Amino acid sequence: MTLRRNLLRSLFVCLVVVFLSLTLVYNRLNFYSSGPPIPDGVNLQPSFSQENNAIDKSKDAYHLESSFKDDLHAAPLQLQSPLQSAAKQISPLSQATFIEEMQSEISRLRQRLEEMERKQASFEGHQNGAQLFPPLSSSSSSRHHQQQQGSSNNYQQYMKTKQLPYSEKKRILITGGAGFVGSHLLDRLLLDGHEVIVADNFYTGRRLNIAHWIGHPNFELLHHDIVNPLYVEVDEIYHLASPASPPHYMMNAVKTIKTNTVGTINMLGLAKRVGGRILVASTSEVYGDPTVHPQAETYWGNVNPIGPRSCYDEGKRVAEALTYAYAKQERLEVRVARIFNTYGPRMHVHDGRVVSNFISQALQGRRLSVYGEGRQTRSFQYVTDLVEGLVRLMAANYSQPVNLGNPEETRIADFARIVLDLVHGYAHIEHFPTPVDDPRRRRPDISLAKRTLHGWTPNVTLEEGLVKTIDYFRGELRLSLGQSRNSNGGRSSVET
Ligand code: NAD
Ligand code: UDP
Repeated sequence: MTLRRNLLRSLFVCLVVVFLSLTLVYNRLNFYSSGPPIPDGVNLQPSFSQENNAIDKSKDAYHLESSFKDDLHAAPLQLQSPLQSAAKQISPLSQATFIEEMQSEISRLRQRLEEMERKQASFEGHQNGAQLFPPLSSSSSSRHHQQQQGSSNNYQQYMKTKQLPYSEKKRILITGGAGFVGSHLLDRLLLDGHEVIVADNFYTGRRLNIAHWIGHPNFELLHHDIVNPLYVEVDEIYHLASPASPPHYMMNAVKTIKTNTVGTINMLGLAKRVGGRILVASTSEVYGDPTVHPQAETYWGNVNPIGPRSCYDEGKRVAEALTYAYAKQERLEVRVARIFNTYGPRMHVHDGRVVSNFISQALQGRRLSVYGEGRQTRSFQYVTDLVEGLVRLMAANYSQPVNLGNPEETRIADFARIVLDLVHGYAHIEHFPTPVDDPRRRRPDISLAKRTLHGWTPNVTLEEGLVKTIDYFRGELRLSLGQSRNSNGGRSSVET
């Protein structure tokens, strides 16, 4: 009896042991197939959704360049691969190591997300900084969207323009209105209450320069090359279309000549047909490498007709000749502005002119490229002073050429030091060979402008103007360098 009881007890113990072993084996198998439980406090979901929010936000910021976009879109993939590799290694890892690894991965992703948000914020800051007329609506991205759509239901987003009586309101054409000078003139004429048509082929101009007016009822943009005839009904024409920086106008010399000759004939023909007044943008380059200093309008100039600059210099001289031929023969009302070196926001950062080169080099901590010894001189005029001069000249009762420039003359080597001081740059100067036919001295005599344009004179000092221009360039470079840094991992002083 006792023996039987002992046997039964042993059998029961064996069964319990077998059951427990089976349960353990089952749990182990289950563990390997479904992975370990994620402990409290380790939540992967928010990281994913924050990344996705960042991606959605990035879609709104229409002009983030591809490198930034790629970063954003690559983020979920970046999350996936460490997860997959961690999962593969799960069997040899202890649960604690796995959790630690996940936590460090999550914190890495959070840092990445913060970095992306910082970039986006700085980008949006740049956009607003670059706007000479800050947006009145809350979101820069939606504003851009509305402008791209040309929505006419959102006039409150534009700067307030004057309401002129019909008798005073003019319809004005600006050729080259998407360029540096043209876009500032556009701002001025629209704010004064006029209707403005811009005709531009975007050779050197940018849609961004005029994007803040797209959709406004007083503004119209024509993508048009003035080498072809243009038929519009206007009262006045500011004829500015022509590349202006030496590297730009030399890039396609034949086209530069065509724009300044055929294009000018087309615009003079248009003025003749509509019976309107035309102002032609000429240049101090008509004086060439001057032998008279300072240059008055009576000086005939010293131009090499076959040198590398002649496409522009002679092109403008022909444009002047055509203008006065039309004035005499067709009784056209004409104005000619001989514009001296002008600078300011919306200059093309890479136009190769001395102002753009020095500022962008200084901001990037690169050496400033002084051509020759830097003894050659220029006189730099801020763009708003020029615009004031152009508007006054158009209205003036004077049809001969008028110099518009700032008579403060600066040696290029000194100019480099002024820019370095303003940027607080640590960069140095590097000398390069002097370009062929580079004018050695240039300074306008503006006494005629003062007399005929009701006392017009430049108001903005070189330092004031440069501070504004440097600010603009800083924004432009931060955007473009931010993008290239993403692709090459480099760093730049513009970030600071
Ligand atoms: P810019 O290159 O910024 O602007 C010129 C504009 O003309 C651009 O928008 C360009 O796309 C457009 N354009 C060029 N060819 C065209 C064509 N065939 N059809 C239609 N559009 C065309 O130059 P900017 O500095 O604004 O100069 C404007 C005018 O002032 C030019 O005529 C230039 O010769 C004159 N100017 C400028 C300076 C200066 O220092 N900025 C000095 C002297 C004269
Ligand atoms: N220049 C220079 N370094 C540059 C660009 C220009 O020293 O990186 C000089 C150029 O040789 C000229 C002057 O600066 O003497 C003005 O050149 P820019 O191209 O701005 O216009 P320009 O007045 O010659 O049409």
